[in-house]
Amino acid sequence: SPFVCRTSSRYHRLSRIRPRSRRGQDSGAPQPARAGPLLGRDAATPRSYSRRVTTRQHPPPHLRPIRTAELLAVGSELTAGETRDTNGGELARALSLQGVSVRRIIALPDDLALVTASFAEALATVDVVVSTGGLGPTPDDLTREAVSAAIGEAPEVDADQQAWLRDLFARRGMALPALNLKQAWLIPSATAIPNPNGTAPGWWVDRPDGRVAILLPGPPREMRPMWRDWVVPRLRERGLGDGRLFRTLRTYGIGESRVAELLGEPMLRAANPVVATYARADWLDARISTVDERDAGGRG
Ligand code: ATP
Repeated sequence: SPFVCRTSSRYHRLSRIRPRSRRGQDSGAPQPARAGPLLGRDAATPRSYSRRVTTRQHPPPHLRPIRTAELLAVGSELTAGETRDTNGGELARALSLQGVSVRRIIALPDDLALVTASFAEALATVDVVVSTGGLGPTPDDLTREAVSAAIGEAPEVDADQQAWLRDLFARRGMALPALNLKQAWLIPSATAIPNPNGTAPGWWVDRPDGRVAILLPGPPREMRPMWRDWVVPRLRERGLGDGRLFRTLRTYGIGESRVAELLGEPMLRAANPVVATYARADWLDARISTVDERDAGGRG
């Protein structure tokens, strides 16, 4: 069974086409609000992605707009405090800027029961659940097993993915190790998300009710392009967010309470637009977001 995890010290992790950045190197510096690696053109200009969107193998019975999300960061190094979950924050910001409400960001250890339960709960609650991590070839990389168990489907080696992996290893003069075969797994509801920077393809999993689970690898430099170039265009096809528009006004040399006073309580309590202040180290941002209520009503 593909669920049998053999322990072996001889697994191969041809995981990085370029050398992996130092552990934790990607964590740290917050990205500027309007130019993060996951935002850029996605957040800015609505444009047609149809040219780049290939036909999906498992079209859902109906399309469900993506309004709510949950993010799972899988890996014991996160819950042990050795690595900071920066993926969660980046994905949350990218989704929030599209008007998607991110309900939770959860870090989970490499524990099959916990990760399975988290997928099951998220898939009963939100429109999209996005996980990062746990897609490597080793027995403790168990995100595929978890989502398979959560939805009750058995993974099998996919011939196309296997051929792609075999070729990747061959180009480095290596045979494809047996353990890496799990990186070629798919379940019937999953479409593989190509990974141009590693050996772990992601999964896009369609549920019959239109909810989606998206599995991405942990390393930010692998996760980001897969999210930005493959996942977001497809989420947009479903109707991503509520069409919310954001504007951030950056102020200097003025305290938060004074800004709040100038804005006034009615403005700060309003439901639409939502106005919020964020005190940063050297400045203060007032963020205004608004949604066209006529449109939101029609699409709800
Ligand atoms: P791969 O097979 O490419 O390693 P993976 O999905 O198995 O992918 P993990 O083994 O879970 O990835 O994590 C690999 C590395 O990615 C970690 O050592 C860490 O540097 C980084 N990483 C993982 N999760 C996160 C996260 N949530 N935020 C930031 N960095 C992360």
